[in-house]
Amino acid sequence: MNDNTMYIPGGKRTAAIVLAAGRGKRMGSDTPKQFLHLPASGDGGRESVMVIERTLEVFEKSPCIDEILLVTGEDWVDFCRKEVVAKNGFQKVTKVLTGGKERYDSVYAGLLACPDADYVLIHDGARPFVTEEILERVTEAVQKYGAAAAGVPSKDTVKIVDEEGFAASTPDRRLVWNIQTPQAFSYPLIRSAYEIVREGNMSGITDDAMVLERSRLARVKLVMGSYGNSKITTPEDLGMLL
Ligand code: C5P
Repeated sequence: MNDNTMYIPGGKRTAAIVLAAGRGKRMGSDTPKQFLHLPASGDGGRESVMVIERTLEVFEKSPCIDEILLVTGEDWVDFCRKEVVAKNGFQKVTKVLTGGKERYDSVYAGLLACPDADYVLIHDGARPFVTEEILERVTEAVQKYGAAAAGVPSKDTVKIVDEEGFAASTPDRRLVWNIQTPQAFSYPLIRSAYEIVREGNMSGITDDAMVLERSRLARVKLVMGSYGNSKITTPEDLGMLL
C-alpha cells in the first residue's frame, strides 16, 4: 500500500489491468508494438522510453489507481519483471501475468487475478498517450454508473458498407463515437458479464464495453477521452518511416 490510496471515497479499491500480450502483426516488427521505443523527440527531451513504460508511468502516478496488473505474452513475462517493472521502480505493479490468444482472453486472465478489486480499469498497453485527466473522468463515471469507457465523438462521417463495399447507410454523426481505453467497470459487474458471454460465442468482441453490451447486464457510459489517446498500431503511429 502507498499514500496514493486515498482518492476513492469509501476506501474502494481500484485495479488497472494493462494489456501487453498482443503480438502486433500490423507493425511489421518482430518486437510487439508495446515494447518498441517512442521517438525521443516526442518525449520532452528525456531518454527514449518504450511504449509500455510510458503507459505504466501514467497509471503508477495516478491517485485513482491502487494496483496494476500487467498482462503480457509468455515469452515476455521475465523481460517485463526485470526491464520494465524493476528498472522503473513501478511500485503499484503487483502482478505480471501471462495473457491469452485473443485480447478478451488476456483481459479475463487479469480479471481472475484481482478478485478483491471494487473497480477495474482495463487499458491497452499500446495507448501510451493516456492522461491523468482521462483516468479521473472514467473513475468518476464508473463510481456513478458502474461502467464507463473513454472515447471521442467521430470527426468523420461514418458509413456502414455492404459485403460488396458499397455504402449502405450513414449513421447520424452526432451519435457516433470512436472508442478508446481505459474502460472502467464495477468488478462484480464485468466479471459476471465475462462469465455470461464466455459461455457462448466471443467472436467479434473487440473491447470490454461490448462484453457488457452482449451480457445485457448494464449500460456503459461514454466519457471524453482525447484525440491524442490513440493506439499504436502501424509504424506511422510511432513516427517511423515505412
Ligand atoms: O491488437 P490490438 O491493437 O487490438 O491490441 C490492443 C491491446 O490489447 C494491445 O495493448 C495488445 O498488447 C493487447 N492484447 C493482449 N492480448 C492479446 C491481444 C492483444 O493483451 N491476445
